[in-house]
Amino acid sequence: MSAQSMRRKPLVIGNWKMNGDVDVAERLIADLRAALDPGLLDRVAVAVCPPFPYLGLAAARLAGSAIGWGAQNVAAYPNGAYTGEVSATMLADLRCAWTLVGHSERRTLFGDTDAEVVRKAQQALAAGVAPVVCVGETLAERESGATESVLGRQLDAVGAVLAAAGEGVVVAYEPVWAIGTGRTATPQQAQDAHAFIRARLARSGVASQAVRILYGGSVKPGNAGELFACPDVDGGLIGGASLVAADFVAICKAALRRAA
Ligand code: PEP
Repeated sequence: MSAQSMRRKPLVIGNWKMNGDVDVAERLIADLRAALDPGLLDRVAVAVCPPFPYLGLAAARLAGSAIGWGAQNVAAYPNGAYTGEVSATMLADLRCAWTLVGHSERRTLFGDTDAEVVRKAQQALAAGVAPVVCVGETLAERESGATESVLGRQLDAVGAVLAAAGEGVVVAYEPVWAIGTGRTATPQQAQDAHAFIRARLARSGVASQAVRILYGGSVKPGNAGELFACPDVDGGLIGGASLVAADFVAICKAALRRAA
């Protein structure tokens, strides 16, 4: 591992998506608290993103632990007449460290555009919540050789906002064809995309060597190690496997090998 990679503290974020209930959330959080020891949490940053209704529960149960919490989405607007939305200041009020922005399910199912991703990232940053900006290409885009142009478009849109934000910025590379499909990018595909993302961010003036770039897409205990061994893969955004405490913990442990 290069000295530059080692300087980026690995980060593993669990995206629970629209799953669970109060009991599931309680149990999952209790299991993570019991299994993730302070030694690991010192070297690997770990966070969970429950659905909005369970964020208060997460805030209460994780307070005082080194496990962070965050949201899966945030409004593109400040508080006001936006029925059904959740603002960045509300996330900050619940002490969310993170919010996902532009997850592919938001982009494809709910029509989040590049412009909205920018507004959401701006809202989050203004409230002191770090955006995890998700980018990725569909299978058709990959197969037609458009991966880099798609990633470039998504990154250029948000580049100036991320450049102004400084070093706390996180980007997640999530190839749409790998999300929830059981089909994972090979380590080489992930590394190539991550290296491209880092270079592209630099073009926008982002301190890209300090930015953590997470891989997401069917990460499991069995493939996390080889993905996290790639020099530009600084951790993972974990969907399905984050709902199984033992799997999520195993993935967090796999990230230890990157840690200084
Ligand atoms: C995700 O939802 O961000 C994700 C990567 O899902 P999965 O791990 O289930 O592919």
